[in-house]
Amino acid sequence: MKVYNTLTKQKEEFIPIIPGEVKMYVCGPTVYNFFHIGNGRTFIVFDTIRRYLEYRGYKVEFIQNFTDIDDKMINKANDEGITVKELGDKYINEYYQDADALNIERASVNPRATEYIKDIIKFVEELIAADFAYEVDGDVYYSTKKFSNYGQLAGQNLEDLQAGARISVDERKKDPMDFAIWKAQKPGEPAWESPWGLGRPGWHIECSCMAKKLLGDTIDIHAGGMDLKFPHHENEIAQSEAVTGKKFANYWLHAAFVNVDNKKMSKSLNNFFTAREILQEYDADAIRFLMLSGHYRIQINFTKELLDSAKASIERLYNCINNLENLKDEVSKKTMDNGEDDYLKSLSKYREKFIEKMDDDFNTADAISVLFDLAKDINNNVNINSSAELCEETKKLVRELGKPLGILQTYMKKDLEAEIQELIDRRQQARKDRDFALADKIRDDLKSRNIILEDTPQGVRWKKID
Ligand code: AMP
Ligand code: ZN
Repeated sequence: MKVYNTLTKQKEEFIPIIPGEVKMYVCGPTVYNFFHIGNGRTFIVFDTIRRYLEYRGYKVEFIQNFTDIDDKMINKANDEGITVKELGDKYINEYYQDADALNIERASVNPRATEYIKDIIKFVEELIAADFAYEVDGDVYYSTKKFSNYGQLAGQNLEDLQAGARISVDERKKDPMDFAIWKAQKPGEPAWESPWGLGRPGWHIECSCMAKKLLGDTIDIHAGGMDLKFPHHENEIAQSEAVTGKKFANYWLHAAFVNVDNKKMSKSLNNFFTAREILQEYDADAIRFLMLSGHYRIQINFTKELLDSAKASIERLYNCINNLENLKDEVSKKTMDNGEDDYLKSLSKYREKFIEKMDDDFNTADAISVLFDLAKDINNNVNINSSAELCEETKKLVRELGKPLGILQTYMKKDLEAEIQELIDRRQQARKDRDFALADKIRDDLKSRNIILEDTPQGVRWKKID
């Protein structure tokens, strides 16, 4: 299996530290809000990689943290008039609700930064003792100059990084590129006792500390969104390797952005859709299909049209499954004959192709094409003369290859009749509400699926045209 390693900027053979086991750490959300589908892509991508590793027989220890103490948390808690702890509790619950709905498997552990304060303080003490960090008035800074490999992930040396960075001048830092690993309490902020007085951890230190505590000094895979490559992950390497003297992570994986009009989807630009709102309109299958239909290192320019076409595509795959399910009840033959047995065996070429694509740096885009080829083959060859057993076995194969992608595991929730009736009802309501734009959109969407609405004295009727 080959994975692209951001650290070496090339595809490398994946060799875990312990054969058959993978220790994986993914930077999780700051829990001050609902997550948007840009964050969602990163979560879905690494959930898929984890699922695929499991599909290939690895035992995966998967850690994804919750950042539950930082400036954004503090400001939002103040705005809402609740404590930072209450805010964290609230949005961790919301995270689980949306992540579960997106078929994202639960992590082995979701550590919260505030639950590791003691370990973080110990980590900071070790960095000071090893002369990689220094204290100034209750703040503790990491001394980037002391770490000779600083810049290895970004692929730049310290001077170039400094020239490119927009860092505010801070007289108290020995070097402009130094970063805070412990922050002295400001009025009104939550704080913990430490050898440097009351304060709280910086962001980068929490991941170094929790990864070490939960997975050990060296881990197999460290991952996150592309924006975390610098400075967050660079700083994590500097902290961890300074303390342990060992390599922190063997493989660094970064997921590309979801953009809107070619700008990164982000809360600050206010160009985001929350996973929650998208899930009201689309199934997890359609959303995951969209996120996985391109390679994870290529940006997605998000539009609703893309999501609509993802929905139509996933429906084609579900049609194959649903047809097999219906066919199974209609056919008269029960068990497979020799010819069918051979046919079923011949389909394993799709499994091999799927694995070949996924083994190549998790090429989900090509793996999905293999799924379509498989569905087409089955549609052409399994019919009313087939056995129930073949229907069942071919359906199982489609499902088996959908599982690592987190798709095709349910039945399409609604049948066509019920779905169309629901849309008609929504259109009627929109007209009542004088929301003609929505009413027209529903009618046009149906039309694009060859479904025509007719207003009759008995009410709205629909028919399917070819
Ligand atoms: P945050 O809560 O902002 O720390 O983000 C949580 C995760 O989502 C991190 O791994 C980010 O790198 C990732 N992320 C943030 N914005 C985007 C985006 N527009 N597209 C893809 N991933 C993103
Ligand atoms: Zn992190």
